[in-house]
Amino acid sequence: MSRMADGESAVPAYREWQWRGGDYRSRIPVKERLLSKRRIEGYCWIWTGQIDKNGYGRMSVGNRKQFVHNLSYREFKGPLPEGTEPDHLCFIHACFNPEHLEAVTQPENSRRRKSNKLTHVDVSAIRILKEPHEVTAKRYGVHPSTICDIRNFRRWNYEGRSS
Ligand SMILES: [Zn+2]
Repeated sequence: MSRMADGESAVPAYREWQWRGGDYRSRIPVKERLLSKRRIEGYCWIWTGQIDKNGYGRMSVGNRKQFVHNLSYREFKGPLPEGTEPDHLCFIHACFNPEHLEAVTQPENSRRRKSNKLTHVDVSAIRILKEPHEVTAKRYGVHPSTICDIRNFRRWNYEGRSS
């Protein structure tokens, strides 16, 4: 970041503290702030704070609005590998369960987005519908194994990697 925040030079430790996830206004660690706005739904951690128009959770850290799933990845799993961004294996954009986030490259993420025509609303509906996988698969234009994976929460494994 090239832009200097007010008072940054006067308080050199501030940048380091902010990088570790401190918040200038609340002084509560980011991890605590994340967990204080968590609603557990199935295996997902649904963000109960601000949600943007695409369904992603947002939170201000160091006077900057950030994606909650990005913050969660960093807080619970460590820094994102160079050139990657977290992808939701559960399809639920408002989810910030680190086990449901996989670091993928930007081209891989857009490729997945194109092949995954499903929205988080679709996924909720798919889990509720009581009909054979094949019928639902036709309805949504996806492979029956995708429906099966969604219904069995098998889009990830416990190493946090896509299976
Ligand atoms: Zn999830």
